[in-house]
Amino acid sequence: VAETAQLPPLALYVHLPWCVQKCPYCDFNSHTLRGPMGESAYVDALLRDLEWERQDLESRPFSSIFFGGGTPSLFSPEAIARILDAARAGPGLLPGAEITLEANPGTADAANFAGYRQAGVNRLSIGVQSFDDDKLRALGRIHDGQAAVAAFEMARRAGFDNINLDLMFALPQQDMAQARQDLMRAIDLAPEHLSYYHLTLEPNTAFAAAPPPLPDADTGAAMLDAARELLEATGYAGYETSAWAKPGRRCAHNLNYWRFGDYLGIGAGAHGKRSRWHHDALLIERRARQRHPVRYQSSVGSEESLQERRSVAAAERPFEFAMNAMRLHEGFDWRTLALTTGLRPEDLSAPLEKAAALGLIERDAKGVRPSDRGRAHLNGLLELFL
Ligand code: SF4
Repeated sequence: VAETAQLPPLALYVHLPWCVQKCPYCDFNSHTLRGPMGESAYVDALLRDLEWERQDLESRPFSSIFFGGGTPSLFSPEAIARILDAARAGPGLLPGAEITLEANPGTADAANFAGYRQAGVNRLSIGVQSFDDDKLRALGRIHDGQAAVAAFEMARRAGFDNINLDLMFALPQQDMAQARQDLMRAIDLAPEHLSYYHLTLEPNTAFAAAPPPLPDADTGAAMLDAARELLEATGYAGYETSAWAKPGRRCAHNLNYWRFGDYLGIGAGAHGKRSRWHHDALLIERRARQRHPVRYQSSVGSEESLQERRSVAAAERPFEFAMNAMRLHEGFDWRTLALTTGLRPEDLSAPLEKAAALGLIERDAKGVRPSDRGRAHLNGLLELFL
């Protein structure tokens, strides 16, 4: 128990890897569904995976759960309930734990939404991306703007009082007025949380091979500035590079990543990070699952299910920690640094001195946060920790 008290919170990520159709900009581990999904076999694999992953963590409850994808809303409420029942076994969940499920408007279904709520999901994250039909078509999305609004209203009717909308900007041929209008439509729905992402061309995507005409970098930056103003004026506080929330509605699961907490990742390609004390040393290990659903399912419950397994050396921790913590406007406190990395403030003094001299951070007795300048030059700030 004493040791558990000295470990960071432990979250659970569940990856559900299929989509109706692959979007041309997407570099997630998602696979176009060709034929039946094999839902119950995949859930069987997830449960074996969970049991195997959790065997040496008997005393640590989950602080939050996130169903990501892929398209989790392709799964039935019964499947989600089976996974949640398994997660609740043993040390279980902390009281009031946030449980999020990602939903695609193109797969929204009123009975399913009500079933997810019934199963214990208490936060829905809807991948709207845009409300503009032309833009949605250019993005290869399977839904239109009306379906996005309908999905949101369906979620409210199903009893969800905590909803995130994912929205993207700097879309093909988007101008400032269109970006503003898209964001206004999201704000009009009054979700509790908004994630606002710059569309980027990722390697190995259809867009990278044949790029659409995109707004230039200055226009993208101006869109983000305008969005910041609009969101702050309508009751949303920005707390991370791409995240805005109404008071008390920040995403607990993502905060745990940015605070360098621990998480188990189950499902194809899922990543995890876990810490444990060995004598006086905090050991940190990162794991990644086999990416392909078939290989994942055939290897689950054994070492072969791990495509990658490595320990994070003390020398790597300042950068890994900063890469997460400096995304948060609030930065970090010294207690969190010690709890999640085993590092002392003096271990960071060289990069912090430099960052302070460049005006990239602000610090006090409690901790460190990026300054406005530091947030605007995040990569430069992070390089100091390498
Ligand atoms: S729906 Fe989401 S996860 Fe699936 S391909 Fe599109 S962007 Fe990727």
